[in-house]
Amino acid sequence: PAEVVPKAPEDALFGLMRAYRADESPDKVDLGIGAYRDDNAKPWVLPVVKKADDVIRNDPELNHEYLPIVGLEPFTSKAAELILGSNSPALTEKRTSTVQTISGTGAVHLGALFLSRFYKVNGANRTVYLPNPTWANHNQILTNVGLQVASYPYFDKDTRGLAYDGMLDAIRSAPERSIILLHPCAHNPTGVDPTEEQWRAIAEVMKEKKHFPFFDCAYQGFASGDLDRDASAVRYFIEQGFELLISQSFSKNLGLYGERAGCLHYIAAPGPSAQEVTTRVSSQLAVLQRSEISNPPIYGAKVAATVLNDPALFAEWRENLQTMSGRIIDMRKALRSKLEELGTPGTWNHITDQIGMFSFTGLNEQQVANLQKEYHIYMTKNGRISMAGLNTRNVDYVAKAVDQVVRE
Ligand code: PMP
Repeated sequence: PAEVVPKAPEDALFGLMRAYRADESPDKVDLGIGAYRDDNAKPWVLPVVKKADDVIRNDPELNHEYLPIVGLEPFTSKAAELILGSNSPALTEKRTSTVQTISGTGAVHLGALFLSRFYKVNGANRTVYLPNPTWANHNQILTNVGLQVASYPYFDKDTRGLAYDGMLDAIRSAPERSIILLHPCAHNPTGVDPTEEQWRAIAEVMKEKKHFPFFDCAYQGFASGDLDRDASAVRYFIEQGFELLISQSFSKNLGLYGERAGCLHYIAAPGPSAQEVTTRVSSQLAVLQRSEISNPPIYGAKVAATVLNDPALFAEWRENLQTMSGRIIDMRKALRSKLEELGTPGTWNHITDQIGMFSFTGLNEQQVANLQKEYHIYMTKNGRISMAGLNTRNVDYVAKAVDQVVRE
């Protein structure tokens, strides 16, 4: 390999973080990475997570043994209830299989690997349709396991909303039994989600075409601040009887980024053979997991399990989620009203219409570059900003800078 391995380009997002860290300006603003920051631009350890930390550290039985291959049961069972709803027919009918993964990334990977091995029609893999745009890592995770990817329209540049008709047409035109990757809430990078009615229509077309839904859920609780409401698209598809996969991340909603807590859930379609199918799928997921990571990391799973299994801590978590989503909503309002106050050319209602961690500002690559060079404001090239990087101290500065570069 020494002679032939070419140098790969640096990951764009992590490269941006590096540039931000190296910038010595006192005015610098990080709107790049999708990680929550408090009003002082500092990482926020959720108070409920601090309490869970204490519970875990004070446990006299604490050790560092291996977890089972499929993970920590008190975590995986509650994680399934969190996304499916505790009364889900999929749970009562025992047609779910959950594997603890290396957070959402690992869940997307394991799900993709599983599909690449077992989801074939006439011996050939099915193509995965990704929203355009989507999380930058989807493409490489899926192609790394040999799956073909294609895209469906998602974002309408003119309305800065959902490209609903285009999306539906593309899903309708995709070959039968394609894999359709969907963000169930707080779409990254656009902050644009389908309405309930639109989800119903999407499900209907997908049923007609026998497509396979793969939900990537990285922001449950971040879109509306309500964990159940943010899971409603997934729950609707399950009600409709789909066989599907869900990747679930606790990076953002519990602030466990570096602990890598997440799950992959497989749900079988209802029917007489559902349990037997689930058993077969579970056995194969365990085989794949064993060769990939042997068993998942323990600490983040324990934190999540502690919160998910204790009603008082769970209630506190809901409050912590409100704190995060509430501050982000305040920042959306502040940024929009500053830009409107300044009379910045263009319309800015999309800042408050979009939801979740991100906003797709509509700034172009040149404007983004100018913001970085002239104002030390860092965001991804596509004009996506992480709303959590804004705070009461820097939002005026950012609005004025945006106003300037838009006028240049
Ligand atoms: N999917 C989407 C859509 C995401 O935005 C992210 C986080 N940026 C992930 C998956 C995975 O994140 P993690 O591996 O930290 O859970």
